[in-house]
Amino acid sequence: MADEFIPYSRQEISDADIAAVTNLLRSDFLTQGPKGAEFEQAFAERHKVSHAIGVSNATAALHIGCLAMDIGPGSLVWTSPNSFVSSANCAIFCGAQVDFVDTDPVTRNMSLEGLTAKLEAADKAGKLPDVVIPVDFSGLPCDLAEMRALADRYGFRILEDASHATGASYKGDPIGSAHADATVFSFHAVKIVTTAEGGMIVTQDDALAERLRLLRSHGVTRDDSLMQRASEGGWYYEMVDLGWNYRLTDLQSALGLSQMARMDEWRNAREARADRYDALLADGPFRRPARFNDRVSSWHLYAVELTEAARIGRTEMFAAMREAKIGVNVHYIPIHTQPFYEKLGFRREQFPNSVAYYDHAMSIPLFPAMSDAQQDRVVETMLKLAA
Ligand SMILES: *Cc1c(COP(=O)(O)O)cnc(C)c1O
Repeated sequence: MADEFIPYSRQEISDADIAAVTNLLRSDFLTQGPKGAEFEQAFAERHKVSHAIGVSNATAALHIGCLAMDIGPGSLVWTSPNSFVSSANCAIFCGAQVDFVDTDPVTRNMSLEGLTAKLEAADKAGKLPDVVIPVDFSGLPCDLAEMRALADRYGFRILEDASHATGASYKGDPIGSAHADATVFSFHAVKIVTTAEGGMIVTQDDALAERLRLLRSHGVTRDDSLMQRASEGGWYYEMVDLGWNYRLTDLQSALGLSQMARMDEWRNAREARADRYDALLADGPFRRPARFNDRVSSWHLYAVELTEAARIGRTEMFAAMREAKIGVNVHYIPIHTQPFYEKLGFRREQFPNSVAYYDHAMSIPLFPAMSDAQQDRVVETMLKLAA
């Protein structure tokens, strides 16, 4: 009997989701109607934050996040090499310079010690960053309180990339509600909550929120208080800044809103799978994700690193897992090693922790509807190959 393919991630689309999208298609607005605002409000309430601004994807959210924080030519932005390329590209879009802070081998997030040391050196050299973009890798929140203290001391802003961390929390606060100046979420189909493509940027800062709303929609406003001239009539709008068309449609928002109803149920299901992986893989040659008492992961990913004791290397293991119809993946190829970034002058050895992690890492299947039988097959295959 041939084994079915087990993907590393799979979206959950319910009949309620399908009904929500169908109803929206029969309504008056496909975009810029009431559903977008409804989704934004529900997302803001769930993450205990005053402003949530829906955008076409998380990359767009990172872009306007940088712009709203006045990033442009001459600015400096730091991020983590262990992320998707968008976390760095957003600064390049603005004409700014990018640099990286190596990851912590335990959290796989931006290293707090590394950030502290790099800031001390940058302060002496007079080259402090304007914005730092920490990434909550796999849904595990970064050391946000300590990073906030550093931001206040050195005068940079924090644009948190929480693309993996929808529904996560840190020291009791939902992600997005505390510590960062603005926080970005992704609703790409592989992420926690999906709108097919889509994203959200949240902030507690009224001025930033106003700027973000303008930037996601052409820099155009119909709000009298933002206009520079008197209205010329009911049709009147003004373009007061250069913005983009980065809106989230009502069609996408209807799906997102419907999906959000199951966010907590999914997080719990993901965590139960992660707990079970921790137990079943405990004796295997795998370094498992670290746990922390002061933060709740959304468990977007379950990534292991093969240890010295493994009989085969990660690359062989990956191929053998795929051969066994198990959809493993690797997150991430360190951004600074991409050809585009190499051309900017980065060298592989500059951020050794992220490269060492990449060389040994493998993300294994994790999604809310995964069965015990599927998980057992993943584990048995891994142990047979490597232990
Ligand atoms: C998915 C992802 C992005 C990009 O999200 P899109 O919505 O696809 O633009 C950015 N950063 C991280 C860490 C991601 O995982």
